[in-house]
Amino acid sequence: GQVRIAARSQRRRDLIGIIDWRVQQCKKHGVDLRLNTFAEAADILALDPDVVIVATGGVPDAGYPFREQGPSFDVWDVMDDRLKSKQRVLVFDDHGFYPALDAVERLARNGQQVTYVSPERTIGIDVGSMNSPAYLQVFSEFGVEVRLGERLTQKPRIEGKEIVALLRNDYSDRESELVTDAVVVDFGTTPNDEVYVELKSQSLNHGATDLEAWVRGRPQPDTGAGSDQSSADTEAGPKFSLYRIGDAVASRNVHAAVLEGLRVGMGL
Ligand SMILES: Cc1cc2nc3c(=O)[nH]c(=O)nc-3n(C[C@H](O)[C@H](O)[C@H](O)COP(=O)(O)OP(=O)(O)OC[C@H]3O[C@@H](n4cnc5c(N)ncnc54)[C@H](O)[C@@H]3O)c2cc1C
Repeated sequence: GQVRIAARSQRRRDLIGIIDWRVQQCKKHGVDLRLNTFAEAADILALDPDVVIVATGGVPDAGYPFREQGPSFDVWDVMDDRLKSKQRVLVFDDHGFYPALDAVERLARNGQQVTYVSPERTIGIDVGSMNSPAYLQVFSEFGVEVRLGERLTQKPRIEGKEIVALLRNDYSDRESELVTDAVVVDFGTTPNDEVYVELKSQSLNHGATDLEAWVRGRPQPDTGAGSDQSSADTEAGPKFSLYRIGDAVASRNVHAAVLEGLRVGMGL
């Protein structure tokens, strides 16, 4: 998932340990891991599960005004080195988290000229004080231009080989144009929840998590999933409970994904 994308940063490559350790534990405890396998709702139902936990994550939010219609890229494009040929890149960060800063770092280390724009009052407002110094060092060393309190106000214009972005300052309403070769927008992710939505109406709990049990660390209410009783009573009806965790719920972070997985798992 996205941890693999984040771990493409040379400086943050050890993030892959988050995955490696879990894979190791899964193997140790006999989990049947099926990698490189795209699961559709029918594939899941064919396994006749008692519980389904959907952890399908998210994809870059293209719903952000001006991103879908382009001409703009997302952080994943940058981490995949798809923008290597662009000399000047504007990174518009309306998320305030690690991804946009990783994109800035990757572009800057690649020798590209980067302008970082954010409507916030600091760079990466949700990046903690333990992690921000390394990024701030990159901003300084590579001369990244920073424009705070500003946002893209309309779809960037293509003018020949150049892109013209219109920026507006949130406080003064002052507008300015910035000529660049590419625009990258980070607005977080949008849930990749197709499988969850499809299975929802077929599940015993309609995909709902009992939040009271959830926050108190108690098992989720017994839906009868997997019991003989439930199969007998609902011959053609639902037989499994359904939960979803992590970015498949909303754009957040590794901690949320891990904690939610733990909370559901504890109760099973
Ligand atoms: C560059 C970058 C840097 C980041 N840095 C940090 C950071 O420092 N700290 C932090 O806490 N968070 C960070 N994040 C955010 C964090 O990576 C995500 O919030 C987290 O990975 C979400 O985990 P997840 O398991 O819910 O989803 P994902 O990581 O999105 O994983 C979902 C997985 O499900 C797979 N999948 C989707 N649909 C199907 C299907 N139908 N069948 C089979 N597989 C499917 C996907 O291919 C993917 O492998 C960063 C993100 C990026 C992009």
